[in-house]
Amino acid sequence: MSDYKFGLEYAKQQDILDELSRYREQFHIPKDKDGNELIYLCGNSLGLQPKSTKDYINQELEDWANLGVEGHTDAKNPWMKYHEFLTEATANLVGAKPIEVVTMNSLTANLHFMMASFYKPTKERYKILIESDAFPSDKYAVESQLRHHGFNDEEGLLLWKPREGEELLNYEDLELILKNHGHEIALIMIGGVNYYTGQFFDLKRIAKLGHSYGCMVGFDCAHGAGNVKLNLHDSNTDFAVWCTYKYLNAGPGNLSGCFVHERHAYDKDLNRFTGWWSHNKETRFNMRQEFDVLPGAEGWQLSNPPILAMAAIKASLDMFNEVGMDRLLEKSKKLTGYFEFLLKELGDNIIRIITPSNPDERGCQLSIQVLNADKSLHHKLTESGVISDWREPDVIRCAPVPMYNSFEDVYRMVEKLKEIL
Ligand SMILES: *Cc1c(COP(=O)(O)O)cnc(C)c1O
Repeated sequence: MSDYKFGLEYAKQQDILDELSRYREQFHIPKDKDGNELIYLCGNSLGLQPKSTKDYINQELEDWANLGVEGHTDAKNPWMKYHEFLTEATANLVGAKPIEVVTMNSLTANLHFMMASFYKPTKERYKILIESDAFPSDKYAVESQLRHHGFNDEEGLLLWKPREGEELLNYEDLELILKNHGHEIALIMIGGVNYYTGQFFDLKRIAKLGHSYGCMVGFDCAHGAGNVKLNLHDSNTDFAVWCTYKYLNAGPGNLSGCFVHERHAYDKDLNRFTGWWSHNKETRFNMRQEFDVLPGAEGWQLSNPPILAMAAIKASLDMFNEVGMDRLLEKSKKLTGYFEFLLKELGDNIIRIITPSNPDERGCQLSIQVLNADKSLHHKLTESGVISDWREPDVIRCAPVPMYNSFEDVYRMVEKLKEIL
């Protein structure tokens, strides 16, 4: 990792050596007014569009045009079981068994559906523990769950905070919170990779700790899916959710993935919100049947899903399946390590990377604090053709995504940043 070199030649050389470099051509790379490719480092917010997406969606549009309702059974990819075409690739992607995953709803909606089952507060044990800088939607969701169950959302919410003057979270502090409050906590809900710092948590360690105090544990892996190795089954978490439009390149606002651990797969007594799509497939269309819940994560579905949206997910997952997370991670670590190497050269009196320096505790994103900067820096970067993401007060988040970003992208980004500073 330490044999990175400076200069454009080195970056170009690495792109030639990169066996995944050809995947870049399979994406639409946004361009500026003059037709030059932008340096797109925002795949943590919205992944780019695979060129194949259009064909996948067109297939379903055509089958709909030609078959109408018969498409449910006669389409090339019959719509009735369309979500099943996503199962295996999704399971591989997040390290789950097929019975543990399903694609449905939007992310925050799934968070609520999971809490309907796994947040079961009692008078003595009702608190929810989240990380202090959780993604706003997650915070709002858990607060509203507290209120929904008649609790005070301020008193009922516990925060795992960084220490004074630090950004990253510390496991000893989490252990202390649980030691003092574990018996009051019904649910621990943490962002598997924190959206702001890029810190990738040890899911297994957190789940084990939570379970040892009798808490339920869930992770929002919106910044993890397609970015880090999640090993959800082995982590033993009770549930997890993620979106498909960030690292999974499935298009703006697309559906969410959901994981429910196998040990809950056959628990028919687990309370949940249900619909006809959670009902036994064999008898679903007999109608007027007593409810008979499907085993596994599929048993949390409500509605027949949006096929056009799922086609875009299939386009992306087929690509992930072909590349495989191992090869992707190998490149990711090299690419982000290279980014870090170049940034460090700017000097720590100018920038500070708040993302963990240990490659096993982060994904591809680096959160760069630029000392004494304001939003004008981000404007200038955008003007110069770098698409990144600004978070108040002074942090630029950049994600060199191994599926389509190049070493040259990273090189050019740092050059532009240097010029501006
Ligand atoms: C992106 C993101 C969301 C967005 O939620 P939607 O329901 O998809 O709008 C929520 N939580 C986290 C942690 C995220 O990263």
